[in-house]
This record gives sequence, structure tokens and C-alpha cells, in this order.
Amino acid sequence: MLEAKDITVTYAGLIAVSGASIEVNKGEIVCVAGANGAGKSSLLKAMVGMEKPKSGSVKFDGEELVGVPPHLITAKGLAYVPENRRLFPRLSVRDNLRLGSYMYRAQDDREAPLEMVFRLFPRLGERLDQRANTLSGGEQQMLAIGRALMTRPRLLMLDEPSQGIMPKLVDEIFQAVTTIRDTGMTILIVEQRLTECLEISDRAYVLQTGRVTMSGPADEIRANPDVRRAYLGL
Ligand code: ATP
Repeated sequence: MLEAKDITVTYAGLIAVSGASIEVNKGEIVCVAGANGAGKSSLLKAMVGMEKPKSGSVKFDGEELVGVPPHLITAKGLAYVPENRRLFPRLSVRDNLRLGSYMYRAQDDREAPLEMVFRLFPRLGERLDQRANTLSGGEQQMLAIGRALMTRPRLLMLDEPSQGIMPKLVDEIFQAVTTIRDTGMTILIVEQRLTECLEISDRAYVLQTGRVTMSGPADEIRANPDVRRAYLGL
């Protein structure tokens, strides 16, 4: 469904991603794991048109995405939840969700995804009039995911959904990711928290200083002695 090949991203000559290739098949949850600064966000941004890769190609259902502006990529069915969530801080939960759908969907297409968002995150339904900037970190992440779902994507990309969130809500969010997949969506998730990410993923890639150093079924990655030593502290 999504195929990124030989992606290189540089910032003022410094290499952030170096020839990374990843694939996501329909119906999968795929995790890209790596430490701080490994290039995870840069790789994701290159795939959704937020950074122009220096080289490489990104195909979504066979169509090239490199060079396509981000809003048109969203319209093709690929939604992206950025690391910093980029909510509209002074707007209510309701309006943040509405804005997710206004840009891409016809009026009669807006109610169904809302129901799904409230089923996934009942907390949001209880806080419709609350301003986004008064939500807890975990609730803001739920809202950011909810807003992305309002575009009715076929593929959802999440950049470190666990960042700055207390453990209980992290579990809730990871649980929601599997529920979202069970509705037929495909998911690519970038995470520092390898253990939790591998638990819900089908396959994973490990990114180290901009390169993919390991890839395979989540179980295999978890059992790999190097991974256990370096990431899981075992
Ligand atoms: P984190 O988990 O800390 O977000 P990451 O794995 O997502 O890290 P990136 O954010 O992609 O990694 O960063 C990879 C490298 O590129 C880092 O060295 C970072 O400092 C650098 N970098 C990222 N964005 C920019 C930018 N806009 N300008 C210059 N350098 C950048």
C-alpha cells in the first residue's frame, strides 16, 4: 500500500535519513522504532510531503507522493498526526474535530467519523466545549488522532503518540490504535517506546542514525538479542 524507497533527508547538508526503505501493506500495523534523533520524524515527514527528500520515492497505492503538497496527500487518504500534535489551541474539541473534516469531506460525510472518534475516545465526547489547550497531554493526543480520523484516511501515520503522556493514557492510546486497525485502516507508527509498539505491531523497522538496521515481524525484532540489549534493557 505504501512503499518508501531509498529516502534521504538532509538539513543544511547534515544527513538525517540515509537511504531508508520501508513498506506498509494494507491492514498492517507497522512500527518504525529508534532512539532520539534517529531520523524517525524526518522519514515520516518525507512521506507526507512535509519535508522534501533529497532523493528517493514514496508510492501510495502505486502513485508517487514526492512533490505532491501535503493537503493533496491527505485528500488521497493518508492522514498524519505530527509529534507536536498541532491542534488549534484556543478552539474547542468540537471545532478541532470539525476542522479535520471540513477541508476534505462533503458535509454528509462528516458525522460517521465523529461517532467513531467518540467510541474510541469517550473522554473527547465528554469535553466537546473544552478548549484544546486545557486538555491533558493524553487527551490532546486523542484529539489529534481524532482529528486525523475525521479525514477518513485509509492509512494513518502517527509520530510518537506516547510522547509526554502518562502511562495509563499511553495504554489507552495504543489500545485505540489496534481498534482503529480492526476497522480496516492501515497504520504506520513511529515510536521510541519499543516494547509497547512491538506489542501492537505486525512488523517493525529499527532506525539508527538515519539508516534501517533491522526489519522483520514484530516477534522476531523483540527476540533479537541486540534489540533486547540496546532497547529493552534485558
Ligand atoms: P525524536 O525522537 O527526538 O523526535 P527522531 O528519530 O524523530 O527523533 P528527527 O527528528 O527526524 O529524529 O531528527 C533527525 C536528525 O535531524 C536530528 O539530528 C535532528 O537534529 C535533525 N533535524 C530534524 N529536523 C531538523 C530541521 N528542521 N533542521 C535541522 N535539523 C533537523
